[in-house]
Amino acid sequence: MTNLIDEIKQLKKDRDATILAHYYQDGEIQELADFTGDSLKLARAATRVQTSTIVFCGVHFMAETAKMLNPEKHVLLPDMKAGCSLADSCPAPKLHRYQEMLRENGHRFQTVTYINSTAAVKALSDWIVTSGNAEEIIHRVPKDMEILFVPDRHLGQYLEEVTGRKMILWNGSCMVHEIFSVGDLLAQRKKIPASITLAHPECPANIREHSDFVGGTEAMLKYVGAVGEPKEFLVATEANMMWQLQNQFPRHRYHPVPGISCACNKCPHMALNTLEKLRECLATGGPEITWQPEFDKAREVVQRSLLN
Ligand code: SF4
Repeated sequence: MTNLIDEIKQLKKDRDATILAHYYQDGEIQELADFTGDSLKLARAATRVQTSTIVFCGVHFMAETAKMLNPEKHVLLPDMKAGCSLADSCPAPKLHRYQEMLRENGHRFQTVTYINSTAAVKALSDWIVTSGNAEEIIHRVPKDMEILFVPDRHLGQYLEEVTGRKMILWNGSCMVHEIFSVGDLLAQRKKIPASITLAHPECPANIREHSDFVGGTEAMLKYVGAVGEPKEFLVATEANMMWQLQNQFPRHRYHPVPGISCACNKCPHMALNTLEKLRECLATGGPEITWQPEFDKAREVVQRSLLN
């Protein structure tokens, strides 16, 4: 393992690369990264990279977004098959047909799209949001327009609750956040009565309503960091987030909220990126995200939404 890590560090220098890693990557990958973060923080970090190559340890839509925001860089993704169930739930041609149908039926709307979507879907959108900036962006949509929110219906519902804006919701969801077990969460809360439950807004309402704090991963870190006394936290988001919580705030204890069918919830797409594939990708310079025709339009929307 030490050899592999040393090799990656050397190859990173040889290739003039910067490693960006999402909080849902294995701890050993996060530990090697130059930047860790949620989608918003990493998209912004991608614009500041000085090296000629970015290795994005995350999923495909994140690497695409990094390429759009910093087109002259080589952007590598250790495993090109690292997708996302949310992005898959909203294919661009289907969204386009639905938008046409709404227009034909007299709806005046703007499309607000969660960053977990393909570039082709971003190109059909007016705004891109992350869990970190969604409320602020929703307030930018003129009051006399309806909102079509895609693709995550749970995040959409949550945003309806916190902003008071009614939305037309696309029926997509994250396969990881969808399956937390409310029964197990209630049992855990009973077993550790002084615990604090953290839930990601991609979780369904039945998990959110039994949580003490709802927020994206950056917001979770901020919330936990502000708790001075050692506490026990129940964490309802992808299980690798606990590595980052533990790393930054070791004074607390963290327990994963179990899924319906497993002891914790790990994203199988994120898990496709391994240390071995990271080494391979630095050694060979691939697989690489190449510029696609839809990136031009998608880039405008991403820049307007995330960088301004
Ligand atoms: S955790 Fe969910 S939303 Fe995030 S990459 Fe995996 S499937 Fe997509």
